Amino acid sequence: MSILSGMSQNSSFCKGCTATVHISEEEISKLFGNVSRVRSIKLTTEENYERRMQACRACEAFQFGTTCRWCGCLMEIKAKLQASTCPSPAGSRW
Ligand code: SF4
Repeated sequence: MSILSGMSQNSSFCKGCTATVHISEEEISKLFGNVSRVRSIKLTTEENYERRMQACRACEAFQFGTTCRWCGCLMEIKAKLQASTCPSPAGSRW
């Protein structure tokens, strides 16, 4: 069996690097603990984050419950960053 056929059978893995598209709350907290020490990275408010995630969860481009098909980003991370935007070609949803 080739690597590619293995990946197509498991849709929870990135097509490009085979890393999982799922990330735990603990991993997100750990990541943003590190990010908060970098002054140039600003996080959005919790309210704005929740509004963004609601839009993503209702979007047809939201895949695996984690990833935007247009940018390939893990949205639980991208939606926390103040400067992030929605890349939908039909127009930003948040
Ligand atoms: S297109 Fe926008 S709303 Fe849809 S999953 Fe991507 S970032 Fe979220």
